[in-house]
Amino acid sequence: MASRPGFFEQVNRTFDGAARHLSLPPGLLEQIKSCNAVYHVAFPLKRDDGEIEVIHGWRAHHSQHRLPVKGGIRLSDHASEDEVTALAALMTYKCALVDVPYGGAKGGIRVDKEAYSDQEVERIVRRYIFELVQRNCIGPGVDVPGPDMGVGEREISWMADTYLALSRGELGAAGAITGKPVSQGGVRGRVEATGRGVYFGLREAVAQAEDMADLGLSPGLDGKRVVIQGLGNVGFHAGKFVTADGAIVVGILEREGAIYDPKGLDVEAVRAHREGGGSILELDATERLPASESARGLEWACDILIPAALESVITEENAPRIQAKIIAEGANGPTTASAAQYLVERGILQLPDLYLNAGGVTVSYFEWVKNLSHVRFGRMEQRFKGATTKKILDAVEGLVGKPFEKSLVDSLAVGASEEDLVNSGLEETMVSAFHEIREAAHRLETDLRTAAFVVSIEKVATAYRERGIFP
Ligand code: NAD
Repeated sequence: MASRPGFFEQVNRTFDGAARHLSLPPGLLEQIKSCNAVYHVAFPLKRDDGEIEVIHGWRAHHSQHRLPVKGGIRLSDHASEDEVTALAALMTYKCALVDVPYGGAKGGIRVDKEAYSDQEVERIVRRYIFELVQRNCIGPGVDVPGPDMGVGEREISWMADTYLALSRGELGAAGAITGKPVSQGGVRGRVEATGRGVYFGLREAVAQAEDMADLGLSPGLDGKRVVIQGLGNVGFHAGKFVTADGAIVVGILEREGAIYDPKGLDVEAVRAHREGGGSILELDATERLPASESARGLEWACDILIPAALESVITEENAPRIQAKIIAEGANGPTTASAAQYLVERGILQLPDLYLNAGGVTVSYFEWVKNLSHVRFGRMEQRFKGATTKKILDAVEGLVGKPFEKSLVDSLAVGASEEDLVNSGLEETMVSAFHEIREAAHRLETDLRTAAFVVSIEKVATAYRERGIFP
């Protein structure tokens, strides 16, 4: 059997399919598609027992049509040059799609986090940032990393602290990395941003009555059965928000196995159980799969499948058995190019990664803006706007001659907080991008993934042309 094309090749196949809808010069398309640079670093780690181990890491700068470049760093035992290059390319298209003014980048450090102590992980991520500083591969105007798989606020804090220690008083140094805790210049709402964005995108997609009718589904999330792969940052928050809007999470797939219950699973309880060191296989469920068969849960009966863990999990092999009517890609690259094409033919609605998980980079962008402006969103106007609304309500009360309910006044006469503004900016971004790609899909008579690439490629092409590089 022919081996499956690499991840970057998969992204480029989708790119080529989209490029056929555009009449752009071949040279320009080639420039957009190419990865501008990949840095490979190898450095020694002194393990707790005194042994020396060489750690490998990469940072890919896919496109510098806008600066800085931006993309997360992942800690994973299968990180590779091909993987970071493909993910950096996806970042280029994702940022362009949602009008976040960055080029695409991605970083990876090849380690299985579970096999290292906390102190060893700290030494690894600090040294990786040191290596990026040495190569001018990080900085608020150059390259702004953020969180990705295996990297949460703890690792980001170590990274930001390392950059700060080396930055010699650079004014915007906090903007060199995003996903920081609020106490270190982070923005409220970043932790849950990607999952919240997945929810906004899904909510918008299922609100389209005619699209749902084509799938044999009713509009709205209420009562929709959801299966999630990966209950990490993206999967957990997506699960939490869709549940709050009436959906029922019936299946959860994790490293240690998968569980299914048509009555519904409580994602918060499952997460708490795992964080306490438990396995999902210990929880009540009607069906269970062991670790070696966890991925078979992708084929469980449901309306919406949210892959939110790894790439290339939906392939030509299992695509015929997928029962979901909607695949909502929380993870990057969960569907291979050929499986995606096959699923289009089967009439399954795919909300593509470059659109659906763009909430993370969108809110990272807000964090970067906050860091460069050195002021919390809402700080200047929150009280002013609250007081102005109160004056308007007082005036209207005077005119009607009847007081408003106190609870109504209290809910209206408040200005927006940082979190309100961030979530509102995220919602606006996800809703408008959805309609932009849906409109392009209708106009070009194609699927949402191809349409999303078309919209992105056009925007990157415009950026190159505006710089006078291409006719
Ligand atoms: P995470 O490390 O927080 O969570 C990943 C989860 O997947 C973990 O719970 C892990 O145990 C689980 N997992 C690992 N291997 C598995 C397997 N074989 N089967 C089932 N589950 C498995 O990572 P994350 O930040 O949630 O990222 C998940 C995906 O979302 C990645 O593809 C990442 O690139 C993408 N993404 C993340 C962000 C973000 O802001 N964190 C933004 C955009 C895209």
